[in-house]
Amino acid sequence: MAEEKATVKPGSVPRQHMPEQPAEQRVKNFSEVLLGYDEETAKREASRCLQCKHKPCENGCPAKVKIPEFIALTREGKFLAAAKKIKETNSLPAVCGRVCPQETQCEEVCVLAKRFEPVAIGKLEMFVADYERKMRVAPETLTVPKNGFSVAIVGGGPAGIACAGDLIRMGYKVTVFEALHQVGGVLVYGIPEFRLSNDTVEYEVENLKKLGVEFKTNSPVGLVVSGEELLKEYSAIFVGSGAGLPAFLGVEGENLNGVYSANEYLTRVNLMSAYRFPESDTPVIRHKRIAIFGGGNVAMDSCRTALRLGAEKVYCVYRRTEKEMPARVEEVHHAKEEGVEFRLLRAPVVITGDEKGFVNGVRTQVMELGEPDAKGRRRPVPVKDAYEDIAVDGVIVAIGNNPNPIIPKTTPMIQVNDHGNIIIDENHMTAMPGVFAGGDITRGAATVILAIGDGKEAALAIDRYLNAKND
Ligand code: FAD
Ligand code: SF4
Ligand code: SF4
Repeated sequence: MAEEKATVKPGSVPRQHMPEQPAEQRVKNFSEVLLGYDEETAKREASRCLQCKHKPCENGCPAKVKIPEFIALTREGKFLAAAKKIKETNSLPAVCGRVCPQETQCEEVCVLAKRFEPVAIGKLEMFVADYERKMRVAPETLTVPKNGFSVAIVGGGPAGIACAGDLIRMGYKVTVFEALHQVGGVLVYGIPEFRLSNDTVEYEVENLKKLGVEFKTNSPVGLVVSGEELLKEYSAIFVGSGAGLPAFLGVEGENLNGVYSANEYLTRVNLMSAYRFPESDTPVIRHKRIAIFGGGNVAMDSCRTALRLGAEKVYCVYRRTEKEMPARVEEVHHAKEEGVEFRLLRAPVVITGDEKGFVNGVRTQVMELGEPDAKGRRRPVPVKDAYEDIAVDGVIVAIGNNPNPIIPKTTPMIQVNDHGNIIIDENHMTAMPGVFAGGDITRGAATVILAIGDGKEAALAIDRYLNAKND
């Protein structure tokens, strides 16, 4: 390894483990599993970085976070400067440090990974972002005067938040319209508190409010006001309305009592705090034996939520093997530690019910792996006449989400592709001039950091568009 400026011999310091709540304790609560580094551990972990000149890690990050620079500052104990460095390209480091799939992005290409374990880039990002918050740094002040233009943002998820943050700093008046009563998108209604506390997201939203971003909650655009109407009032629009429409399998029994979409289940528990019922207003049924269909982050979140709600048996039913699972490796590891039982190479074919219409079981087809599909993942193929029945009293379908249809339906000039994703050009502009889009509504269900990247790119594109239009 011909790398420079390592402060310790490569491999001499092991990757620093971030303390966690023990599995048997955390399955009984909704508090964050990860407990964070202390300052000395963060510095030790940062000392492992070789400060590679060609920065492969940076190229592995969709937001091009200045990784070697922020890690060097962390190593020197300059944690606030490190947080500032990350924020040059990523507006939500506390979130990304917790939920990015680092193992397929920045950490996958870390040169240390070839012989040792990669630098814990995500955990360091989480540490410095949390440190900044803990230090109660004085709120940022705007340095640019108002430019007279206003932009409406539709959707308060990571794409919308990132776009709003960059535009307000460029001098725009920014209003975010959010359909739900709380801003944050999937970060607050989907991802459970034990992975990402709602406080972490609220802190970022509060900072944007202090900068002057106006948030209008309970305001679904398309239902109370149309896209066309908004364009009369605002100079441009950014649509970041996400992929909130749950997909179903279409198998018999999906309409039985006790079958939910992961979206409904997680929203009840996370956003409406059903886990605190009766202190909160929203109840949730606490199933004893529950099957979750799917192998992504949404499925892992549903499995682990069900355990915390007291289920005795939680089965994750997935039609491929663990290798093909799209979930973050850390989530699968945590799910196993907590007691989720994986039924791999199993595809649900029928959900069965009792005479009162309540779920009482799932019949699964045994699968094996066949030839690779277009994405290179081996296709699951049914094994003839091989089935397994699982007795359950609840089912959660977590096989994916489709784009939110309200905006395209109510603003027909915006065009969508066959999957319902809004079509944009290389500048994030839709077919309707002045209307831009990004995040899951254009990509289909993807990741937080890609949504943030889209929001930031769109902010620049909106700035270019309005400057050119008004030259
Ligand atoms: P969203 O986060 O979906 O936000 C869209 C917002 O727009 C929502 O608040 C919605 O209410 C609002 N909205 C919709 N229509 C309207 C309208 N007409 N008017 C006003 N507001 C509207 N990604 C990761 O990187 N790591 C993970 O670990 C991870 N885990 C996940 C777990 C779950 C349970 C889910 C569902 C997703 C997960 N993802 C994860 C994916 C990630 O959260 C999304 O890719 C990301 O949130 C997309 O951001 P977005 O801003 O495009 O949309
Ligand atoms: Fe890695 Fe995500 Fe941070 Fe980029 S934003 S450096 S991919 S954790
Ligand atoms: Fe090199 Fe890894 Fe450090 Fe990036 S994080 S500079 S790839 S050692």
